[in-house]
Amino acid sequence: MVETSAPLTWRDLAGIGLERLKRGNQRRVEALGELGVAQLGDLLTYYPRRYLDRSREATVGELNVGEDATVLATVNRVRSVPGRDPGPGRRRRDRVEVRVSDRDGASLKCVFFNQPWRSKQLREDMQAVLYGRLEEFRGALQMTNPVVDLVGDRTGGIFAVYPLSAKAAITTWEIADMVAEALRRCEPRGIADPVPVDLLGAHGLCGRFEALRLIHDPETFADVTRARNRLVFDELLRMQVALVGRKRDRERAGDGIAHEVDRALLAGFHRRLPFALTAAQSRTVAEILADLSQPWPMHRLLQGEVGSGKTVVALTAMLAVVGGGRQAALMAPTEVLAEQHYLGLSGLLDCLGDGDGDGDGGLAGGTGRLSLGGLAPVSLELLTGRSGARARQRILGGLASGDVNMVVGTHALISEGVAFESLGLAVVDEQHRFGVEQRAALGARAALGGLPDVLVMTATPIPRTAAMTVYGDLDVSRLDELPAGRAGVTTSAVTAPLEQPAVWERLRGEVAAGRQAYVVCPLIEESDKVAAAGAEATFEELRRGELAGLRVGMLHGRLPASAREPLMAAFRDGELDVLVATTVIEVGVDVANATVMVILGADRFGIAQLHQLRGRVGRGAAPGWCYLVAENPSPSAQARLGALVDSSDGFELSEIDLELRGEGTLMDSRQTGRSDLKLASLRRDRDWVPRARAAAEAISDAGGPDPTLTEEIALLLSDADIDYFDKS
Ligand code: ADP
Ligand code: MG
Repeated sequence: MVETSAPLTWRDLAGIGLERLKRGNQRRVEALGELGVAQLGDLLTYYPRRYLDRSREATVGELNVGEDATVLATVNRVRSVPGRDPGPGRRRRDRVEVRVSDRDGASLKCVFFNQPWRSKQLREDMQAVLYGRLEEFRGALQMTNPVVDLVGDRTGGIFAVYPLSAKAAITTWEIADMVAEALRRCEPRGIADPVPVDLLGAHGLCGRFEALRLIHDPETFADVTRARNRLVFDELLRMQVALVGRKRDRERAGDGIAHEVDRALLAGFHRRLPFALTAAQSRTVAEILADLSQPWPMHRLLQGEVGSGKTVVALTAMLAVVGGGRQAALMAPTEVLAEQHYLGLSGLLDCLGDGDGDGDGGLAGGTGRLSLGGLAPVSLELLTGRSGARARQRILGGLASGDVNMVVGTHALISEGVAFESLGLAVVDEQHRFGVEQRAALGARAALGGLPDVLVMTATPIPRTAAMTVYGDLDVSRLDELPAGRAGVTTSAVTAPLEQPAVWERLRGEVAAGRQAYVVCPLIEESDKVAAAGAEATFEELRRGELAGLRVGMLHGRLPASAREPLMAAFRDGELDVLVATTVIEVGVDVANATVMVILGADRFGIAQLHQLRGRVGRGAAPGWCYLVAENPSPSAQARLGALVDSSDGFELSEIDLELRGEGTLMDSRQTGRSDLKLASLRRDRDWVPRARAAAEAISDAGGPDPTLTEEIALLLSDADIDYFDKS
């Protein structure tokens, strides 16, 4: 195939077209082309979808009506049956009926509607694996529109089944045949393996050629695992080497700001707080301050669930930057949250209480001028779409001149031609995709040289391995400890209607004791209009029924801001007993006096959302109560609710969530058609992610990847792939 005898690199393989294979006739090559397989490298990484163990396939006799089943069968007869004339304007429902029999001779009828091509695809004596629900129709066993895998007349134990569209003009055994030839022909030279041998040894991984051979043609399921481990490791390693490489490049570029952090000043701030920082807060602050003083731009994710005290950590970073003469901005995804943050920061700044300012929380955005131990004047402003034209003008002027050194707002802060005199830090709250464009926008705002540091805050704890992959090269700080003095929340799943009265009794009891409550209405994924109407109907029912006589407010997404604000203020001020809300965001209200959270239709929420909602109560000294109300929850919803009842640890719940969501992982939900992550799954392979990460770091520390690996990364990972994971 090639002249030299060095092992074939990925570039070599990519240069060998499928027509070069003896088994690569034109039809096969074209069919594979449609599946995105153009050359040998593609073919070798066109991995089986699953494996069949012939000796263990069920026979028809073992199946139960009503259940999904897989049967290996031989085609006996194929018949096209025209449907009856359904009358004018409607389509005839033609069908193909296929009679098959299993190895015991038991027969089964398969009916395919509107798939006329099946009569050409399926022919007598073909072996097929059928996957579908077994039904009984007029006394006979039948499957309707089963999934079909043509497996050819193969002997032996386990064999690969390749992913194919139903209409692909190639069968799974033809692919196996071509893969086998490709491997045979690569064997003399072997395939280049850029992963250092000691690394393979350390992780008990087999060689690359062996892995490719075993994944396509295993003898045992242990072979599959062995092969998979190696190939998954390669995928993750390529991704991590690319991400670590980008991170190191950024660090070397040195185009950030080395802030002069005045630790004494910050210590003074912490001393004046009415509480001591938790160990997690101190650790996190130290991590951030270390980043700030480096000459490269920080890009750090601060994870901590609701109530873990992210605000004071963020404010410390902001004060550090302001103390060093730069500006700091905090960006929230909604106006409501921006206002909350503004109040939170003002409150903490008030603790500084040195008298010459009013850090008060006027929602319109008043000027709070405080001096930080007399050293650094702090001027905090709130800028949102609701700021009046005058205030806006004034604040924009202050940002441009540097008079305003701390600002809270929505993302409009970086997207609407706002100019900063010298932006040193952007704190981004709950931003899931703080991408390349935002980063560029930030750079453009930072008039006085140097890219601002970025701190992303999220209340959604994500599993460590997911953070490593999904957040690519972000550094991660975790607030994994709640401040002391929290009474905590008792959570119950209420799935029987008879248990519901106890919920309302508790709510009324708490209100009678002077506490407040939230009721969250089901999340309805229809139009806003329908959702609002549904919530309003629920609201009316509740107000006349369970909540009769209480002071109840209703907050939904369609309420204009002008109507929302007074409602929230009323709840905050204790003028309302119960706040009925439709969405998660709107519950972003911080009211320590609230002790009851009733979530209706809890089965429609995910674990993370429920946990976040629950975090709204039990934040003070009084114990909180959370009721997850769900009628007829599905088994998976039951599992979710059960997890919340059993655990109050957000990080633990995030791991459980990943487990329960199964293969539908963050990585799998990507839109990219061709991606290098063909096998790796965040859930299944979570143990491999940190190993690949560590290996990538070791490789980078030892002078960077071997040229073959660099070449593979360039070849296999598109920039879009890396960008997806590299959120900076
Ligand atoms: P998060 O933003 O993570 O949800 P906050 O920063 O709003 O949490 O903090 C929640 C509450 O806990 C606030 O009232 C805050 O003042 C308080 N708090 C923060 N840190 C501590 C601490 N170390 N000890 C006691 N209370 C704290
Ligand atoms: Mg820096």
